[in-house]
Amino acid sequence: MLNINLFKFCSFLRVFGYLMILLFAAIVSLTYYAVVFVTWGPLLFPSFSFLAFFILLIFHTLLVLLTWSYSMAVLKDPVPPTSGEFEEEVAVATATSSVGYCTRCQSARPPRCHHCSICQRCVLKMDHHCIWVVNCVGARNYKYFLLFLLYTFLETTLVCLALIPNFIRFFGGTNSTKTHKLSPGAFSAIFLTSILNLAFALSLLCFVVMHLSLLLSNTTSVEVHEKKKGIRWRYDLGRKKNFEQIFRAYKLQD
Ligand SMILES: [Zn+2]
Ligand SMILES: [Zn+2]
Repeated sequence: MLNINLFKFCSFLRVFGYLMILLFAAIVSLTYYAVVFVTWGPLLFPSFSFLAFFILLIFHTLLVLLTWSYSMAVLKDPVPPTSGEFEEEVAVATATSSVGYCTRCQSARPPRCHHCSICQRCVLKMDHHCIWVVNCVGARNYKYFLLFLLYTFLETTLVCLALIPNFIRFFGGTNSTKTHKLSPGAFSAIFLTSILNLAFALSLLCFVVMHLSLLLSNTTSVEVHEKKKGIRWRYDLGRKKNFEQIFRAYKLQD
């Protein structure tokens, strides 16, 4: 019989997560090179292109927003302190379900808490342990995670569209005064960037739609399995309030 130590596997996932941060930085750098240095940057000088300026402005704005939300999702501790920061949420949850017991933490487990074997503790409104943000996605950092998904989806879609002129130029052999010849190295970078960004844009679209429906029904990815068909979800406060719960909690922290 195979003797697998699950705890060792979990700590491996944590180390693997830090490599994902490096991978994230590498993809951002490659994309920046392809979009800013190769494709649109050269169109700003010597003759100014308004389209290039507009694309670069949106690109940089989204880049700042997604890096900010990513950093917050990585750095924010998803477990709320016992100071009552999430008092209202816990009160609503306690009113509709009982407090449990976590055998791993060996302590009481408030409603809507789930034990994460990678973080080795219970996390309020745990959604999943995300290897991209090397953190649990829970009550405190769910909004940052959602914003990260949204901004990254918009940015990757913009990058896919912004790189199309390179392919037209390369395969169509256009040679106007405004364009410059692409070296094989630059074209390879553009090709790789397009494939990566297209793959991310398509998978992020699925994630954005999925998490939007979870957000509006006040459900986490873990709780989806607890839901019973035909019965109203006990934490569902209505779309508007469900939305406000995530964003209000987030506002209080800052
Ligand atoms: Zn626990
Ligand atoms: Zn975790």
